[in-house]
Amino acid sequence: MPSFSSPAAPLVAIVGGGPAGLLAAQHLAEAGLRVQVFEQKATVGRKFLVAGHGGFNLTNGEDLGAFAARYGAAAPFFGQALAHFSPARLRQWAADLGIGTFVGTSGRVFPDAQHTPADLLRAWLRRLGDLGVEIKTRHRWLGFAGERGLRLQNEVTGEEFAVVPAATLLALGGASWPQTGSDGHWTQALAAIGVPSQPFAPTNCGAEVAWSAFFKEKVGRAPLKNIALSCGGHTVRGEIMLTDYGLEGTPVYALTPQLRAALAAGTPAWLSLNLKPDLGAADVQRRLTRRRPADSLASFLGSAFSLKAPVPTLLRELPAPADLGAALTALPIPVAGLRPLAEAISSAGGVPFAEVDEKLMLRRRPGTFVAGEMLDWEAPTGGYLLQGCFSTGAWAAQAINNQVNGL
Ligand SMILES: Cc1cc2nc3c(=O)[nH]c(=O)nc-3n(C[C@H](O)[C@H](O)[C@H](O)COP(=O)(O)OP(=O)(O)OC[C@H]3O[C@@H](n4cnc5c(N)ncnc54)[C@H](O)[C@@H]3O)c2cc1C
Repeated sequence: MPSFSSPAAPLVAIVGGGPAGLLAAQHLAEAGLRVQVFEQKATVGRKFLVAGHGGFNLTNGEDLGAFAARYGAAAPFFGQALAHFSPARLRQWAADLGIGTFVGTSGRVFPDAQHTPADLLRAWLRRLGDLGVEIKTRHRWLGFAGERGLRLQNEVTGEEFAVVPAATLLALGGASWPQTGSDGHWTQALAAIGVPSQPFAPTNCGAEVAWSAFFKEKVGRAPLKNIALSCGGHTVRGEIMLTDYGLEGTPVYALTPQLRAALAAGTPAWLSLNLKPDLGAADVQRRLTRRRPADSLASFLGSAFSLKAPVPTLLRELPAPADLGAALTALPIPVAGLRPLAEAISSAGGVPFAEVDEKLMLRRRPGTFVAGEMLDWEAPTGGYLLQGCFSTGAWAAQAINNQVNGL
């Protein structure tokens, strides 16, 4: 395997220093091409590091068929991209950088306890440096110039200039957490060459519920563990957090596509909460018969169902069905909206798959490829987002290498 890019080799420009762009840069440099990465922020991998502040799921241990299905309408494309750069290859890539990984009980893959995501990024940037990848930070892409060129601006000097690479990869990210650089402003430059983008929408984000002032005061932030949440025919198990503005947590995030669709049809959208998903209907009814007239709701829910605060307050707050069994297993929660795009974990929208060919090359601009979250796909949390970015980056890098080398 050639392991160093040559200054005399054809130049590939990569715009955007997130996981998709940096992995493509590594693969192209390993293939012997000269690679320049242009990143508008002062450092690369900012959103990658933000991801590292939370649970940081690098990928997931799920089998490839189920994994690809997580990408919804884009599943057929991701089936190919995942076969090319699989979760196993992602773990091997991390291991090659000296970062071991392990599969948690939920299937999520984490870096081992000795390493932080920042360690992984540092080791990766060292590897890219060894490969001769030139990373030009504080360089903002402004748009296209001529048939193959790119207009760029050095943000320090203000100087504008053009480069004319043999091929370009755009890996500009989505539009959540704009402070990391993923500001979505690139849609204008693509529109200028006739490439439309789907409007951005928050996904993997919290839901807003108009709690009463009493509820906010009394409950504040409180977890509800081991619940099931449903919307639009989908049910997700896990833990949610009641907050003063609504709900957070993995089941809420996973249901954002369904919530978005329901909100488009009318407000409020309804979530259905099952507080005892492990109990069958017959078991719930049997326990309900134990209630004596003297039992308060709170003490009865505690003794018969092990449900403590804030559940009684929640049942009083919401339009709970009169039948207590239905209230415990299908409690309707009115959702007024989704949390703002800026605080979402990821964004839906971006470059539609119809605008790229099967190699991820823009149909309207041969030689320019697109990868990562800027493509219009969405997936739940749990490692599917980063894996999707890495796999599309690797897929585009392979196509660029073939094209530049006339293969
Ligand atoms: C709070 C949070 C937690 C997360 N946790 C996880 C997790 O645990 N697991 C998981 O799988 N995913 C997680 N994600 C999602 C994951 O971080 C993103 O999906 C991923 O970083 C997207 O990679 P990308 O390479 O497509 O784009 P980004 O990482 O967004 O990188 C795009 C880059 O392009 C640059 N750029 C944009 N416009 C220009 C321009 N005009 N000129 C030059 N440069 C430009 C930006 O500055 C940015 O550096 C999390 C995200 C957040 C916000």
